[in-house]
Amino acid sequence: MSPQGTPKPHAMRTARPADHVDNGFYGQDVISVRQFSREKLVYIFSVADEMRTLVRRFGSADLLSGKVLTNLFYEPSTRTASSFMAAMLRLGGRVIPINEVHYSSVSKGESLPDTVRTLECYSDVIVLRHPEVGSAQIAADYAAKPIINAGDGQGEHPTQALLDLYTVQHELGRLDGLKIAMVGDLKNGRTVHSLTRLLSLYDTEFYFVAPDILRLPADMVAEVKARGHKAVEVEDVHEVIGDVDVLYITRVQKERFTDLAVYDSVKDHYIIEPALMARARPNTVLMHPLPRVGEISYAVDQDPRAAYFRQVESGMFIRMALLAAVLGKA
Ligand code: ASP
Repeated sequence: MSPQGTPKPHAMRTARPADHVDNGFYGQDVISVRQFSREKLVYIFSVADEMRTLVRRFGSADLLSGKVLTNLFYEPSTRTASSFMAAMLRLGGRVIPINEVHYSSVSKGESLPDTVRTLECYSDVIVLRHPEVGSAQIAADYAAKPIINAGDGQGEHPTQALLDLYTVQHELGRLDGLKIAMVGDLKNGRTVHSLTRLLSLYDTEFYFVAPDILRLPADMVAEVKARGHKAVEVEDVHEVIGDVDVLYITRVQKERFTDLAVYDSVKDHYIIEPALMARARPNTVLMHPLPRVGEISYAVDQDPRAAYFRQVESGMFIRMALLAAVLGKA
């Protein structure tokens, strides 16, 4: 990616209509979970609760009527793209979906900065997924309208982490004093990176469970420990399964491997079966950002501790809350 032209100073974002709610999110980008404090999370989660009630009672509302979202996806997506779309539609807004960038001018070589500067002429907010770490920040540097990071390579996936944390809160009723095991591709899994950082805001004990080549990057382990958390790295999930409140498993990120033989050697390293769940606590929450490609057997879906489809539903409420917040309507 070669940025072109001059980044827009963020000061240019001051010309705003007066009819917005001053919520600390209005007009802002959502690039990294590092932007969130515990107070901000309480706010977003309370708006998400309201969105849940709204959808259950009325199905939709006209809070964002007249607003347009562009969904700009350079990488495949099922849940993130469609839940942002559902969130916007349920709030009365409209969506420009660009899911196949090879049908757009990107395939002619147009740069990311030019693409976002074009699309913001048509829309009020842009949700971006891109394969390169740091791409969302680059887009935000050039766009005057809010950019929401929907995954930048192996970097971050902040809206997934928000919905993951919101799910933990819903399932267990608290966020402090929890033990969580992150299992699978901790090296490449951006959801793991974002969720680990968010959980670092709380009193959390971390167990990072991965084969040697998929361990969490050393700087992240060091960051967690520097914040005073217990962080234990193990390879065998049996060592921790009976002791954790949350079991968060991810798929091995095939698209990040240059050598598929290496991928094949690790892809089936962890498979959650009913026999393994029998060793977990009665209230352990089993989570997965999805898609699963074999890490959780279908037989586990009936287990009430399996929360991954509840995570999916919560994602829409979180994204409704975020859209309403950055557009100054929450
Ligand atoms: N859907 C998540 C992501 O986009 C998790 C995954 O793909 O494994 O990062």
